[in-house]
Amino acid sequence: MAHVVVLGAGTGGMPAAYELRDALGSEHEITVINERDYFQFVPSNPWVAVGWRNRADITFDIAPYLERKNIKFIAGRCEKIDPSTNQLELAGGQTVKYDYLMITTGPKLFFEEVTGAGPQTGNTHSICTVDHAEALWQDYQKLLEKGSGHIVIGAMPFASCFGPAYEFAFIVDCDLRKRKIRHKFKMTYVSSEPYIGHLGLGGVGDSKGMLEHELRNHHIDWIVNAKTVNVEAGKLHVEGYNEDKSLKKTHEIAFDLAMMLPAFKGVDAVAAVPNLCNPRGFVFVDELHRNPTYKNIYSAGVCIAIPPVEATPVPTGAPKTGYMIESMVTSAVHNIADELAGKQPHTTGTWNTICLADFGDTGAAFVALPQLPPRNVAWFKKGKWVHLAKIAFEKYFIRKMKKGSSEPFYEKSILKMMGITRI
Ligand SMILES: Cc1cc2nc3c(=O)[nH]c(=O)nc-3n(C[C@H](O)[C@H](O)[C@H](O)COP(=O)(O)OP(=O)(O)OC[C@H]3O[C@@H](n4cnc5c(N)ncnc54)[C@H](O)[C@@H]3O)c2cc1C
Repeated sequence: MAHVVVLGAGTGGMPAAYELRDALGSEHEITVINERDYFQFVPSNPWVAVGWRNRADITFDIAPYLERKNIKFIAGRCEKIDPSTNQLELAGGQTVKYDYLMITTGPKLFFEEVTGAGPQTGNTHSICTVDHAEALWQDYQKLLEKGSGHIVIGAMPFASCFGPAYEFAFIVDCDLRKRKIRHKFKMTYVSSEPYIGHLGLGGVGDSKGMLEHELRNHHIDWIVNAKTVNVEAGKLHVEGYNEDKSLKKTHEIAFDLAMMLPAFKGVDAVAAVPNLCNPRGFVFVDELHRNPTYKNIYSAGVCIAIPPVEATPVPTGAPKTGYMIESMVTSAVHNIADELAGKQPHTTGTWNTICLADFGDTGAAFVALPQLPPRNVAWFKKGKWVHLAKIAFEKYFIRKMKKGSSEPFYEKSILKMMGITRI
C-alpha cells in the first residue's frame, strides 16, 4: 500500500484528491493537508468584495466531504518538506510520511515586492482570499458612505493573474451604476501588462481591442507598463515604462480605495526545498507534472514553474487558470496511478483553457487551446450570457467539490464535443 499526500486543498488539490481516489482504488492511502480547514471558491472573491456574496456562500468545511470518499484530511500548515526522508513537518510538530507527494499549494501572495502594498500591513486591498475580499468589502462600504472618490484597480509587477483585476474593475463599475452613484467616482486601471488585454498571455483573440473598448465605455482610465514602486496611505507611486524599457513617466496617483493584485511566488515550505523550484519558488515539473529531481513529487496549479509568455518591460507572469489546472491534475494523477501499477507514466496535460470573466451584468469568455501561444484556437467573446454562465459555474464547481467528482461524465462529454479535453 502506498501513501499519496496532496499538499494544498484549493482549486487543484481538491480535484486531485478525488481523482486519486478514483484512480487508485481503496488499497492505497490518500491524505490531504491544507493550512485552513475550509475550501474557498477563489473566483467568487470579487463578488464578496462588493457584498454580492458572503463567506458562507463560497466556502465549506473540507473534512466531511473528503472523509466520505475515504480520504484523510489534516488541517495544518506544512512548514518543511524533506524529500530525503519523504516526510512533511507541520506547524505544531506533527510529521507525515509520503510515498508520493502532490504539491498544489497555489501562490504565496508576495505583497512585500512593493513597499507599502498589501491588506494587512500596507495600503492596498486584494481579492485573492476570502479574508482579503471581506476586508475590502468593509472599506468599500465606508467609501460608499463617503459618496465619492477615486478607485484604483490593477496588478503590480510580477503579478501573473490579470483576469480578476479586470473583472473587479467592471464589477465595481456595475455595482456603482446599480446604486446610481457611478458619476461620483473616478476609476483607473493600473497594470504591469504591456497593453490592455495582454493578460500575461500575449493577448487572446481580440482581448486587446475588446477590453480597451469596454474600459472606455465604462469610463475607466488606464495606465499600462506600470510598475508600482511604493504605496503610501492614499497614494500609489508608479513608474510608467516605454516598450524599450526606458522610463516614460512617473505617476503619483491619489486614491480612496485601491485593489492591486500582488506578485506571486511559491509558498515558503516548497520554495525552501533544494533543487525543487525556480528562484521565485515555483516547482519545476516535466511534461508528466513530475519534478525532475525528486521523481516521487508531482505538482499542479499556480505553484508550478512556467516561463513568462514573453519578456515585458515591467515583469509579468503567465496565469494558470482553473481548467488548465484541472488538466495538470488529471495528467499527474494518471501518472501516479501508472507508477503504482508498475507501468511507465506517459500522460501529458493539454493545458487547454476556458475562462469566464464576469463584468457584473455582462462578461467575457475566452477559450485558448492551448493556453500558451502558439495556439490552435484563440477565441474571446463578450455577452450577458457570460455573467449567467459564471454564476452557474460557481454553483457547479462547489457542488462538484462537495460531491467528490472532479470530472463528471457529462462535463467530459460536452467539452469533448467542443474539442476541449484535459489530457
Ligand atoms: C481572485 C482570483 C480569481 C480567479 N478567478 C478565476 C476564474 O474565474 N477562472 C479561472 O480559471 N481561474 C481563476 N483564477 C486563477 C486560479 O484558478 C485560482 O488562483 C486557483 O485558485 C488556483 O488554484 P491552486 O490549486 O493552484 O491554488 P489555490 O486554490 O490557492 O490552493 C492552494 C491551497 O494550498 C494551501 N496551502 C498553501 N501553502 C500551504 C502550506 N504550507 N501548508 C498547507 N497548505 C498550504 C492554501 O491554503 C490553499 O488552500 C483566479 C485567481 C484569483 C486570485
